[in-house]
Amino acid sequence: MTLRFALVIDPAAADDPRTDFAGSFRVIDPSAPALSVGELSTQRGDGIFESIAVVDGHAQETEAHLERLAHSARICDLAAPNLAQWRQAVAVAAAHAPGEGEGVIKLILSRGVEHGPAPTAWVTVAPAADNTAAREQGIRVVTLDRGYGIATPAAAPWLLLGAKTLSYAVNMAALREARRRGADDAIFVTSDGFVLEAPTASLILRIQGRFLTPAPNGGILHGTTQLSLFSHLEEQGYETAYAMLDVSALQEADAAWLVSSVRLAAPITAIDGVAVPVDAPLTASFNRYLLSPRD
Ligand code: PLP
Repeated sequence: MTLRFALVIDPAAADDPRTDFAGSFRVIDPSAPALSVGELSTQRGDGIFESIAVVDGHAQETEAHLERLAHSARICDLAAPNLAQWRQAVAVAAAHAPGEGEGVIKLILSRGVEHGPAPTAWVTVAPAADNTAAREQGIRVVTLDRGYGIATPAAAPWLLLGAKTLSYAVNMAALREARRRGADDAIFVTSDGFVLEAPTASLILRIQGRFLTPAPNGGILHGTTQLSLFSHLEEQGYETAYAMLDVSALQEADAAWLVSSVRLAAPITAIDGVAVPVDAPLTASFNRYLLSPRD
């Protein structure tokens, strides 16, 4: 997707007392080369990111994304981002997003140039892809082994499993494998049979009237969309819960969705070739809610 706007940020320390960070932003030509070839983000995928949806010019759930950026930075031993500075950068970016329709703001924080003095940080704005078909017609998914057990994330924190790192080559490979198997997307499962998440989305199942999602116990990202939908469902009196979900739970679901910031709620129509019922009115109401201005 063609970038509309890009901003390089001179990262400030987390305790920098400034209230106006405009002087630390440098607008750049989004179509021109900008990164040094020594960048660890490109050499090693060593950095973190966030994708924030923009709807009619409004950046959705900025605080939840900033909190997750800080969480990912902690896991990756990156200096804590100054959230006031990033919040201001998001506001500048949102002002350059399409005033109508959907866009995406990306926040990227890289470890910087090898042996360099500081991390590299930048923000981009692009129009969002058209996700109408996934939202309205749904998606077929296959389960794919993620290659480790449910206890691995706690035992091996250097795998950085709860962080939104720039190393998405494995996630993209999983999506290609899903397509080779005739599906649109994948659900990762642990080698000992627990359900995790999709390569770029969280999973929500409805089982006997309760909305369930795998517990973010270090092995998966805590999705901002799932969090927002759960509080919306709770306000409407529905029961929600985080759970350790065995793969057999997938076949018990009477509705299931992959949810993420930009595609929003995509109803699952089949898992491993077995049809899953679709609740079209509820899915439409999820997406109406997700497209409404949310902070
Ligand atoms: N899990 C993974 C691995 C993701 O990459 C994403 C989003 O890109 C999500 C879950 C959903 O997170 P969010 O709802 O904050 O977009």
